[in-house]
Amino acid sequence: MALQTIEFPTSQGHTQHISAEPSFDEVHGANWHVVRVEVDHPVCAEEHLRNTCLRLNESSRFATVDELSASIIHQLNQPLTSMLANAQAAKRWLSAEPPNLKEAIASIDRIARNAHAADETMERIRALFKQESLDRKEASVSGMMSEAVRLVQEDPRKREIPIEWCFDENLPKVLVDPIPIQEVFINLISNAIEAMEGNRIPPLVKVRAAVTTQNEMLVQVIDNGPGVRDKEKIFDAFVTTKAKGMGIGLAVSRSIVEAHGGRLWAENGPDGGARFNVALPLSPIN
Ligand code: ADP
Repeated sequence: MALQTIEFPTSQGHTQHISAEPSFDEVHGANWHVVRVEVDHPVCAEEHLRNTCLRLNESSRFATVDELSASIIHQLNQPLTSMLANAQAAKRWLSAEPPNLKEAIASIDRIARNAHAADETMERIRALFKQESLDRKEASVSGMMSEAVRLVQEDPRKREIPIEWCFDENLPKVLVDPIPIQEVFINLISNAIEAMEGNRIPPLVKVRAAVTTQNEMLVQVIDNGPGVRDKEKIFDAFVTTKAKGMGIGLAVSRSIVEAHGGRLWAENGPDGGARFNVALPLSPIN
């Protein structure tokens, strides 16, 4: 039987999506895998979720549907709950006498931030499944890294962590699709910053780029956190040590880099801390 999805409204006026798919084996008979997602606003999140449920059907990259559904629900629950609470708060501020516009706008800003976070989550899940062709062009590593740093630093908590640059001069260009490669850099920098939370020494991220003797562009993101425990396992989907982590950032990043003919691997530095290496082939036009 194929994946079945039904939708119905809840008493709070939300929409519930319940998707179920059976699998059969000789020992246990039928096992039902069920995904239940409640959406409080029928915006694009609904469409994203429906697409994700459909793709569950096709994917063989996940051990069980339960794992994926638990991750999606965990990741989306927080922003959706917060959006609902802030929508109710905005309504209260607007219906106060006199209306408090400043607080209402602050609540609406929080709704927008949470909607953005939910959308980002769905984008990451989508990236895990998508096999679209790459739009390669000549790109500078320092340009992509600057944009990645700018985007990471949009988060005020991450802005305080110093990022030290060490890029060789006159670096040649690489032939890549800049958007997914930038996504890889964002992921590595964010992970580095998160790994240093609770550091005894002042946190520092170093980003380096140089051409190797094998004629590859080597980009490194180095931190002074605790280092990685298992240098291979962290690249598996859904391996996370973070309370709110999803464990797909490195899996997606590695598949992006490999789709470009490159390599992504992790090491621990001689003085502790983790070092993530991205090797990309140089553009033949250089
Ligand atoms: P997430 O960030 O959601 O956990 P990732 O796939 O990006 O997912 O990372 C998987 C895991 O790899 C993290 O939970 C963490 O345990 C480990 N990891 C990633 N980057 C670092 C780092 N810079 N230092 C130490 N551990 C790291």
